[in-house]
Amino acid sequence: MQKLSVAVAVFAVLAALVGAHKGASDLFVLAGAAALCAYTTWRAADISSYLKIFATIFSTETVVFGLIGLAEAEGLWPAALKDYAPPQSMPLTVAVFSILVYAVSHIRVVREMMRITDFYFDSKDRGEGRVWPLPPFAARESAIAVAMVVVLVLINQGQVGITVRLSFFNRDWFNAIQEKNAPEFWRQLFFVFTPWAFVYVASAVIEFVLQSLLVIRWRRWLTEHYIGRWLGTHTHYGMALAGGGADNPDQRIAEDVNRFINGAEEGYGVYSYTILLIATLSSLVSFSYVLWDLSGNYPLPGTDIYIPGFLFWVVLLYATVGTAVTHLIGRSLTGLYFERQRREADFRFSLARLREYSEQVALLAGESAERGSLLQRFMGIIVNYLAIVQKRKQLMVFTATYGQISPIIPYVITAPFYFAGRIQLGVMTQTASAFGRVEGALTFFINYYTSLANFKSVLDRLTSFDGAIDSARAQIVRTRIVSPAEGDDIRLREVTLSLPDGRSIVAIDDLTLSAGQSTLLSGPSGSGKSTLFRAIAGVWPYAVGEALTPKGARVMLAPQRPYIPMGSLADAIVYPSAGADHSRAAMEEALRAAKLAPFISRLDEDNHWSQRLSGGEQQRVAIARALLAKPDWLFLDEATSALDEELEEEIYSMLRQRLLKTTIVSIGHRSTLHAFHERHIVMEPAAGGLFSPRDKVHA
Ligand code: ADP
Ligand code: MG
Repeated sequence: MQKLSVAVAVFAVLAALVGAHKGASDLFVLAGAAALCAYTTWRAADISSYLKIFATIFSTETVVFGLIGLAEAEGLWPAALKDYAPPQSMPLTVAVFSILVYAVSHIRVVREMMRITDFYFDSKDRGEGRVWPLPPFAARESAIAVAMVVVLVLINQGQVGITVRLSFFNRDWFNAIQEKNAPEFWRQLFFVFTPWAFVYVASAVIEFVLQSLLVIRWRRWLTEHYIGRWLGTHTHYGMALAGGGADNPDQRIAEDVNRFINGAEEGYGVYSYTILLIATLSSLVSFSYVLWDLSGNYPLPGTDIYIPGFLFWVVLLYATVGTAVTHLIGRSLTGLYFERQRREADFRFSLARLREYSEQVALLAGESAERGSLLQRFMGIIVNYLAIVQKRKQLMVFTATYGQISPIIPYVITAPFYFAGRIQLGVMTQTASAFGRVEGALTFFINYYTSLANFKSVLDRLTSFDGAIDSARAQIVRTRIVSPAEGDDIRLREVTLSLPDGRSIVAIDDLTLSAGQSTLLSGPSGSGKSTLFRAIAGVWPYAVGEALTPKGARVMLAPQRPYIPMGSLADAIVYPSAGADHSRAAMEEALRAAKLAPFISRLDEDNHWSQRLSGGEQQRVAIARALLAKPDWLFLDEATSALDEELEEEIYSMLRQRLLKTTIVSIGHRSTLHAFHERHIVMEPAAGGLFSPRDKVHA
């Protein structure tokens, strides 16, 4: 950035010198703009990485096009290449663009947008790319992405150039038609239109492919990023406990990420708002120049007075009024779209949840209650939908009228001149098309207003998701009480466990769980037994104190309702390790030991096992899991509560036989469990409504 800035500054000096030499005032303007551009380029070292790409492109172009322009002014540009020199206005335009990029980087919503965008463009990950027909290569993922963005911007600028060139073809062609000049008509068609049109089509196809690839790479990366952040250090659990903050993380990861980058039916994403915006702006500027020049053909009606850039001012006024009115009407759409995302996601989630709990609902005959609550949720969607329709209806009355009138206006303005014979047909049509282009570009914000509103809501959802992740993480880190220590025992000192709302429920002065001593924990329901286990497992983020666990020890916790992942039974018993980690024989043996022998033949069957298996069978799946994992510590939180006493006893004695190196700590209520534990701890009420674990001595 610094080097580039110096280059731009040197160019500014050169332009000023040539300007003095030639006495050309426009070169002084260019020199001034370049000087400012040199400054912003220097400062741009600190802006978002993504925006930096654009600042770099434009500053580089300022120097390149500017030098060509100077060479031309000094008569150094080869005459043979005359037709290929960029228009005089080009360096100034790109210099201003570069300055603009720097300026917008300070706008708040742009910063928010760029914060998320830069996750990808700042990433250090390696990626693999391939440019046909060369072989694949490895590079930094962000470098590949930057290269793609650069090419896309250049393609878009080139396309604007072609469109401008074709507008002159349009003028000459219609003039040929008016003059009945057949040879010129065909010459224009075959030697001007055809090659440019071909280049345009080719570039459009390349653009499409590149854009699609960039978008999917970016989405893959960002999805991985969010999944990683969400799952890391149990953040997802912390977020669920904390509640509020970010509803429906699933939807944010699956949908909002895609919308953010790529947009959706109702709108565009970052990709479009940057690269499309630049194409639109380039088009705006180029055709504004065309329109400005064409204005020289039109004096004020009935006079010989020419207002410089007359047509340009007309279209500017026209589009500004349009944008302002649209903004007034459509202002409240942002909030409505935000609300829509939330309601749709809530509805979908309740359906998914119903599917998960369908048996319980059926048993309770809760269908009509479910129907009621589903329909009520859906009503929420409808209310929001109708509010959106209402707003968009008002907006549409205006935008549709506007859209109908727009193509007519330039003809209405130019027709008197044409009929008076002051302009040719070609000039009239070129004026109309330039007018249309400028108006189209200016109304970019009008036409995309709704999508901008929508985009803002996606941005807000991702931003608040990030915020919720960060605060959940901070909570987890701040309250991390578990730390690895030397020794074999688990020791808790002055630990207080609380609920998410801040209420304390468990107080522990000093509790040591000795390795090799199986322990039973009992106590009233709701006395915080499970919470204590969660704290020892290191997932409960509302704790103060100190918990020391043996360094490197593997701790496994089996809850009352074990988690059965989607997939095969084999996946379920080896979870969370991979199937390859355990031999087939070991899996079968574990099933047999857990009294699940009949399922051995169904190990590979993909099924909704969490719904197919009975509660007791699911608990035994968790036991089989523990047998395979052979943890150093096994915490069984009412993990055998669904088994009859006899089976529970068999399972416990089997565990003690097979897991010789494992210390078992259980929560349970049945007195028969005492026989399998060497120590018994009871949760007893203590001061302040809290519960504290106390050793119980059996007579
Ligand atoms: P138990 O001793 O029966 O295992 P728990 O440890 O599960 O008791 O729960 C202790 C108390 O904490 C209960 O009053 C329960 O309602 C409350 N609690 C547990 N989990 C949460 C949670 N995620 N949010 C709010 N309260 C909770
Ligand atoms: Mg419990």
